[in-house]
Amino acid sequence: MAQPKNAWNTYTDKQLEELESLSKRYRAFLDAGKTERECVTEVVRIAREHGYRSIEEVRNANSTLQPGDKVYAVCMEKMIALFTVGKQSFEKGLRILGAHIDSPRLDVKQDPLYEDTELAYLDTHYYGGIKKYQWVTVPLAIHGVVVKKDGTKVQVCVGEHADDPVVFVSDLLIHLAGEQMEKKARLAIEGEKLDILVGSRPMAKETTKAGNGSCSDKSEYNLSEKAESEDKKSEKEAVKQNILAILKEKYGIEEEDFLSAELEIVPAEKARDCGLDRSMIMAYGQDDRVCAYTSLEALLDVPAPVRTCCCLLVDKEEIGSVGATGMQSRFFENTVAELMDCAGEYSELALRRALSRSRMLSSDVSAAYDPLYASYFEKKNSAYFGKGLVLNKFTGSRGKSGSNDANAEYVAAIRAIFDRNEVLFQTAELGKVDVGGGGTIAYISALYGMEVIDSGVAVLNMHAPMEVTSKADVYEAVKGYRAFLMEA
Ligand code: MN
Ligand code: MN
Repeated sequence: MAQPKNAWNTYTDKQLEELESLSKRYRAFLDAGKTERECVTEVVRIAREHGYRSIEEVRNANSTLQPGDKVYAVCMEKMIALFTVGKQSFEKGLRILGAHIDSPRLDVKQDPLYEDTELAYLDTHYYGGIKKYQWVTVPLAIHGVVVKKDGTKVQVCVGEHADDPVVFVSDLLIHLAGEQMEKKARLAIEGEKLDILVGSRPMAKETTKAGNGSCSDKSEYNLSEKAESEDKKSEKEAVKQNILAILKEKYGIEEEDFLSAELEIVPAEKARDCGLDRSMIMAYGQDDRVCAYTSLEALLDVPAPVRTCCCLLVDKEEIGSVGATGMQSRFFENTVAELMDCAGEYSELALRRALSRSRMLSSDVSAAYDPLYASYFEKKNSAYFGKGLVLNKFTGSRGKSGSNDANAEYVAAIRAIFDRNEVLFQTAELGKVDVGGGGTIAYISALYGMEVIDSGVAVLNMHAPMEVTSKADVYEAVKGYRAFLMEA
């Protein structure tokens, strides 16, 4: 079969300009949203600039939703659905772009802070599938929230500004790593060793002691044994105490407040142009914010669609789409019901019809073909940089297990739309048969009986601290998603 064209060979000067300005907006989005909460905040900000109102505002206004109205609903600050109301009734079905906004990372445990040998650490439990050895020795930032017992929420973000400190996970020096280097890569860095080094300086001593000036060393040296042991006691975990004092001063939080915190450790790097030709973007969290952002832009571009259009950005995909903010929750269904009610169209049957007659692009990243690891891919059915939006008829592993397998009829319809709109696309599987696999949210939406196909953008280094995409594929994704919303 003829392989798709390289997108770079097809662009006009105007398109290249659009591609660069999109890349710039995309990089800014990646920097603004390194956690699902931050992504939701940023999406709400952008949406409101484009005239979207919250479902609560629509409810309070007591007006009936009209075609062209723009509404969003947020679930627990981690999941968001945005809608542009279509000319046709909801019952005719929606056009949905779905993607996830959670990414692999290290999560801080509930009782995390400890001191060992005058070094203070935060204990973590990693989130999602990671190669643990990739997360050591790189600069990391702390993002998240601490919710105090009285309900006050403290936002934490350390490591992003040029003058912020960063944190890191240490690794054994190569000089002593003979035994470690013989281990399987899976075991070379153990999960319990992914602790974040956050401090090494003991709490300053009382001013009275510090007041001894140049003699202080000598006078401490001469302390009686009893006084010395008492001094030791007060100095116990002085590094940890110092960290707690800093947390108290900066954020007004106590050690117990970690119990109700969600702190995520992510790479402290910004999104960057990549390659001497600047053809790529390197950044943390492109799985799946590359699909999330391009889906959002596509929705914002659609002025007055025939069918109601939706961009659904979910949390928890990396751990199985579980929980209230994952795709398996009823949030999406409930929100559609609310909207139909606001449009004066709700009935249980109308809701069922709206969902089952919907069409969706479940967008998630694909593995980009990597010539350095060619043996893990099957060349004809791989995704390539610069060859456009990727369609995965199915995903899954070992005999398509766990996969949504899109209907041939639906694939044909999507192909036709993309061809009509000059969207470059390619089809792919995630690696060779039986080498591995992966899942998405597609199979969950498919439970409503709607047409769903996996699509997305090819990524190199998927799930590594820094992932890489092709700017051309990001550009084609927006084109493809827009064409889908208008014509599917
Ligand atoms: Mn993903
Ligand atoms: Mn993933």
